[in-house]
This record gives sequence, C-alpha cells and structure tokens, in this order.
Amino acid sequence: MQNHIQILEKDFLNCDDIITLLSLNKEQANDLFKKSEQIKQKYVGNKVYYRGLVEMSNICKKDCYYCGIRRSNKNVSRYELGDKQIIDAVQYCYNNNFGSIVLQGGERTDKVFVDRVANLLREIKKLSNGELGVTLSLGEQTLETYKMWKEAGAHRYLMRIEESNRELYQKLHPDNDLHSFDERLAALKRIQDAGYQTGTGVMIGLPFQTVEHLADDLIFLREFNIDMVGMGPYIEHEDTPLFQYKDQLWPLEGRLFMSFKMYAILRIMMKDINIAATTALQTIDPIGRERVIRFAANVIMPNVTPGVVRKNYLLYENKPCVDEGADDCLDCLEKRLKLVNAEVGFNEWGDSKHFIERTKG
Ligand code: SAH
Ligand code: SF4
Repeated sequence: MQNHIQILEKDFLNCDDIITLLSLNKEQANDLFKKSEQIKQKYVGNKVYYRGLVEMSNICKKDCYYCGIRRSNKNVSRYELGDKQIIDAVQYCYNNNFGSIVLQGGERTDKVFVDRVANLLREIKKLSNGELGVTLSLGEQTLETYKMWKEAGAHRYLMRIEESNRELYQKLHPDNDLHSFDERLAALKRIQDAGYQTGTGVMIGLPFQTVEHLADDLIFLREFNIDMVGMGPYIEHEDTPLFQYKDQLWPLEGRLFMSFKMYAILRIMMKDINIAATTALQTIDPIGRERVIRFAANVIMPNVTPGVVRKNYLLYENKPCVDEGADDCLDCLEKRLKLVNAEVGFNEWGDSKHFIERTKG
C-alpha cells in the first residue's frame, strides 16, 4: 500500500487513496493540508469572496430527519421575511461591497412563492445595477422554475445532495415522494441543465456514515462535475428524529477534523472549483471557517439575515451569531481572513473557474 506522501503526489485519487487520506492522524494530516494549500494558491489564488446570506424563511414543506426547521418540528416559530427586510439586507451587502448574495430558505414550490422569488430577483438586480451576483438555495424545483429564476437574475444554485449513498440517504429522510433520492439527484441535474453554476455538498459525521461513505461522496462530487461545494459537519438538533443517535456520533472535534480533511482532499481532486467555508464549521470552532480558507475554501457566506428572526433559523444547535446584527461580525471577519493569508475580493463575483472552463465554447 502506498503511504500518504506517495498518494499526495498522484494526479488522480482513487477510492482507496481517498480512504487513506481521510484516515490520516493529526500529524500526517499536516502534509495533506500543506499540499491542498499549494494547490489552492496555484489554481484559485488567495482571494476569498463574500456571499451575504439571507435566510428568507424557515417555512419548509419537507421533513428531513436531521434538520431543526423540518416541517414537523412544532417548537419552531415560523417566519417569512418581508420584501423590504430582504431588500434592506441585500442593500447592506451592496453598500459593503459584497460581490454576491445568497437567498436560502425552507423548500416551497407553490406559485405564490415561486413568483415572489422571481420578483425579488428582479428587484435585487435593479437595486445593484446588475452588479450583485445572486446564488439561490431553495431546494428542489421544476426545470421551469429553475429557468424562470435564472432569467430573473440568479446565476448560481446550491443544493446539497446531503449524502450520495442511496441507502444512507434513505435513512436520513422519510420514505415518501417528497424525499426521494432519485428526485434529489434529478433536481441537481435540472439545475445544471438550466445553466446555473451548480453547487452541492454533504454533511460530515452523520449517524451511520463511515469513511467509505465520505470517500464516495467526494467521488460523487467529481463525477457530477460540480462547480461549487458547500459541505460541513453534521450537528445534532434536539427536536429531530436523528437526535436519538447522538451517542453514536463522532465527537464534535472529530467531525471538525474529518471536515478539514474532506475540504483538503476535495481541493486536491477538484482544483478550480469554488468551495465555501460553511457556518457549521464555525459552530464547532469559532475560527473553523477561517481555518479551511487557509488551505482549501475560497468563499464565505456572512449571515446578513435581520437579527430578529435569526434565532428561528436553527437548522442545528448552537448556531453562531444568532444574537448579533450583521455589523458585529463583519468588522473582525476581514482581519481574521488576513491572518489566514486571504484577501477579500470586494465587488467581485468570484465565479467558479471550473464553471467557466466547463462551459467554454
Ligand atoms: N431547504 C434547502 C436549503 C436550506 S437547508 C435545502 O434543503 O436544500 C440548508 C442545509 O442545511 C441543508 O442542505 C443541510 O445540509 C444543512 N443542515 C440541515 N440540518 C443540519 C444539521 N443538523 N447539521 C448540519 N447541517 C444541517
Ligand atoms: Fe427543509 Fe432544507 Fe431543512 Fe430539509 S434541510 S427540512 S428541505 S430546510
């Protein structure tokens, strides 16, 4: 068997290589992080792009077993931001020279919602003279809806596969049409077909998940030829069915370390994609996002959701910054990013280089 140093010299990582790398101890993993940092600098440079995250609503028609805002959770106070609240949050991003924003929320497919999103997109484009890039993260929709939202101004879409292994996916979701693995996959394909820069990702450290599953997840991302990835540790939420397995999980520190290895291996496998440093990392380690930006990630999504509703968008427990206004976080963020050798790409879209290559004539 090859050792990890030999594996890190290879052009193409196979499943066994990935499993070996995912199994590295702390000391060995430093070689992995060093390699991915070199690749990151070479292929995407030291710029990091801001996408202001607006959590539009926690109303969701789905019932994913891991998620704190799942439909059946009666302990959540449901909210929907008004147009003005959304536009104000977007304006805040524009005024602070963010290149892009993300509209994220629970899944809804009714006409009122679909039309409203289209109108919001047009307004966002208007208020920023077309300058703000827009990513959507609103779950599974029809091709028609994806196309309509794209025409209205969105150009990136993020929808995690959550877990690429069918059997495990099924354990994490109710067994019905609304939560079909095939449909999730087909929706991701529709996003790609509609012409979006397409993002997906997985949760790391889920109940029943093994290192082999995680290796397959990374291979899934490569085979799907994905442009952007958002992935992060699974964090249990008391009001969800999966909470009953909390004693079987890897400790939080272990989930964080495994996430770091996932980020680094992904950067080595997919050199020119955009990788977001996600909020769940910050839940375990206050500077978890900055740490992955040093060696792998090049996108960060500062939360700009109005503070009053933020405490109701708890996908998982101990989500950071729920008591703070957007301003509190932003001031120090840039300084912390400097400490990990990253420079903020203000006013730039920071599109996925992989997408540009993939769609070139
Ligand atoms: N409803 C949309 C987008 C909002 S949910 C969708 O599901 O695509 C955004 C992400 O939160 C999900 O993709 C999921 O990966 C993540 N998430 C939900 N519950 C989580 C948990 N308990 N721990 C970590 N991430 C979680
Ligand atoms: Fe809804 Fe997304 Fe949570 Fe699933 S993960 S319950 S689709 S908000």
